Amino acid sequence: MIWYPYEQMKTMREPFQIIDAKGVWLKTPEREMIDSVSSWWSVIHGYKHPALTEAIKAQADLFSHVMLGGLTHEPVRRLSDKLQSFLPGDLDYCFFSDSGSVAVEVALKMALQYYVNQGEWQRTKVLSLTHAYHGDTFKTMEVGDDEDYHFILEAYGEKMEFCQLQINYIDWDFQDAKKKAELLKEYGIPVWVMEPLRGGKLAALSSEDEAALKELRPEEKIPAWAFRFLQSLPEVKMILSGMSTMGQLEENIRTFEEEKPLNDVEMERLLDIADNMINGVPCTACRYCTSHCPQGIDIPAMLKLYNEHVFTGGGFIAPMTIEAIPEEHRPGACVGCQSCEAVCPQQIKISEVLADFVQKLK
Ligand code: SF4
Ligand code: SF4
Repeated sequence: MIWYPYEQMKTMREPFQIIDAKGVWLKTPEREMIDSVSSWWSVIHGYKHPALTEAIKAQADLFSHVMLGGLTHEPVRRLSDKLQSFLPGDLDYCFFSDSGSVAVEVALKMALQYYVNQGEWQRTKVLSLTHAYHGDTFKTMEVGDDEDYHFILEAYGEKMEFCQLQINYIDWDFQDAKKKAELLKEYGIPVWVMEPLRGGKLAALSSEDEAALKELRPEEKIPAWAFRFLQSLPEVKMILSGMSTMGQLEENIRTFEEEKPLNDVEMERLLDIADNMINGVPCTACRYCTSHCPQGIDIPAMLKLYNEHVFTGGGFIAPMTIEAIPEEHRPGACVGCQSCEAVCPQQIKISEVLADFVQKLK
């Protein structure tokens, strides 16, 4: 039996049977496919690259792998010299490991060991970025930010100094920022915020939305609303925001001279504006519809992806996510029976949205 990675064994689709490969192409008995992840980045020069194949054959005739524990050899010295020539400054040591995850694991262990050797035993914490992924060994998972790794919070939450999240009033519901912030609050982990203005999108709104906000706080500038929103979240301890002019810097300093969190009415209005900006399918993820779908389509998940795809004007997230779903459960599997629509309290024309999604993904 083979235990396939990243799969639920009971529901996984039949894996493709690979019988040959060349360049970017993988061949099955029925078709050829582009391997767009280079076998998880391990074949980045393509399959059957003649120079690589020749070099592997020639080396295998001498010896293949020989460990570096107490031994050394000319090929590894040559590789080390070559890598060193690419590296800046005094980065001139190479430590060879057997995979990307292990490389990061080793680097983390070295960094921690360095401070132990200096007698600084207290420096045991590692900073990491939101949405980071470094691999699947234990320490790399700890510095990663994958939903499936959140059990790490359970085990190590109390040792974390802070966690960085993308929070702004658009992403509060749209990207589940609220849920993530609440989770961190539960563990008492301070939150650092990035993209408070969502890449500048919240620095200017439509004239109607700006008027609706001015009615509540005539003196407040529009970008400041995004910061006041964050000032309303006590768990937020640091806000990172890009500024490209001196004027923006001065304006932000003025904003942060005062703490002026939003009251309930202001918060509601701001989140209403965010909803309208997304202008997506109003699915509440109640999941009443899912048990009615003969195709087993995860309808709320598909509608959420659809909203993301439309709001961001395309991009790779939706196509990549859909590709990972078995074909029989993708939006294209919808047979238009409308059983789901009969029970949807939001009266969403689900079959039409899914058909539109299929078109948009083409
Ligand atoms: S219309 Fe499509 S999504 Fe809705 S129940 Fe039928 S097959 Fe499922
Ligand atoms: S029933 Fe409607 S609102 Fe509820 S999850 Fe399904 S599509 Fe969304």
